[in-house]
Amino acid sequence: MKRLIYPGQEKISAALGRPSAGNEDIDGTVREVLDRVRAQGDVALREFSQKFDGYAPASLKVDEVTIQEAENDVPPELREAMRRAYANISSFHSAQLQRSAPVITADGVKCWSRDVPVEKVGLYIPGGTAPLFSTLLMLAIPARLAGCRDIIICTPPGREGRVNPLILYAASLAGVTDIFTVGGAQAIAAMAYGTESIPAVYKIFGPGNSFVTRAKELVQLEGTAIDMPAGPSELLVIADESANAPFVAADLLSQAEHGTDSQVIMLTDSKIMMDRVEAEIEKQAALLERNSIAMQSLENSSLILLETIDECLEVSNRYAPEHLILATADAHRHAAAVINAGSVFLGPYSSESTGDYMTGPNHTLPTGGYARSYSGLSTGSFMKRIFFQEVTAEGIMKIGPATELMAGAEMLGGHRNAVSVRLKYLEDEQNRSTGKA
Ligand SMILES: [Zn+2]
Repeated sequence: MKRLIYPGQEKISAALGRPSAGNEDIDGTVREVLDRVRAQGDVALREFSQKFDGYAPASLKVDEVTIQEAENDVPPELREAMRRAYANISSFHSAQLQRSAPVITADGVKCWSRDVPVEKVGLYIPGGTAPLFSTLLMLAIPARLAGCRDIIICTPPGREGRVNPLILYAASLAGVTDIFTVGGAQAIAAMAYGTESIPAVYKIFGPGNSFVTRAKELVQLEGTAIDMPAGPSELLVIADESANAPFVAADLLSQAEHGTDSQVIMLTDSKIMMDRVEAEIEKQAALLERNSIAMQSLENSSLILLETIDECLEVSNRYAPEHLILATADAHRHAAAVINAGSVFLGPYSSESTGDYMTGPNHTLPTGGYARSYSGLSTGSFMKRIFFQEVTAEGIMKIGPATELMAGAEMLGGHRNAVSVRLKYLEDEQNRSTGKA
């Protein structure tokens, strides 16, 4: 890990540079996968599965018995843990469903909106060595709460060509039973274009390797929506002298083990804290199973000593971390100063890993500085908001003349006319009725 002591702005910016992906050469491969799946459907899916994952399942869809039986392969304590996660994620995401009341914007003009679910969504769950069943819960629960009609899951085959039972159990817990054994860019292609086995969806969610990410970006250009731009995971910790150094070190390492391209940053106003955290990292890193991954990502990572915590907050807002831990005595006041971050953890006991699994908010978050403009996933990500407006005769008389003026000034005579014919009609009608009277 780099150590920076009261560095100038330039050095800070250099230390906060994200590790570059450098995957320009995968475009050709991804494009070929997309085109082949579009043209040949299941045949291409099987071929690519065989080539990239080493298995080509006879049936891509996981049958219901296999899903039901997966439960038996999950230890009871883990089942219980997953049910708790399910409950917490559900209660946080349920609270995001709100109805907006109609608004009378002018006499006779009533406007309202209704949130409607995206009808068909596809969830991509990475598998293989690390079955991300927590991600399945984080995607499927809000999709169900939003009311999406068709929810499908694609996940690559694990050992012996089967889907990991933890993923299957999480899927049944979340109430999703359309699961397909296919991974990689070919899974994204299948969900975007549809094949004989896999129905096309309108929006694709979920993390993946660089091939999956690039495939999502490419199908987005063709009209299938995606959740958000994806990149390597990040954590920034702001620690003052009150922080618990072993906790901070453990948090930094927990994020560093995600992948070799992860980045972790600690900002502090205390030289003593910096030294203690550094020593702790060395001590704890040796004990990690994923030590070699963590060590590599620590090379992209820095401990930075600054003058004040306010300065730390400024730097953090500029960096816009995916995860931010406020390991400070005054975490609540500091939280109020956060303007760019995906998810924020306050105080000594809020480890970032509790947010990955248990606290309730979504763990699908903007990375790569996108926290400046994007939010993490919510039930709203699975919905669209439709606007409604109803203008009465009284209403058109109120807002019509101003509409005519504005349309005319934009040289859109047809727009002006659509109001004029109505106003004229109402005027004639009034004359008729006063004539009769
Ligand atoms: Zn994490």
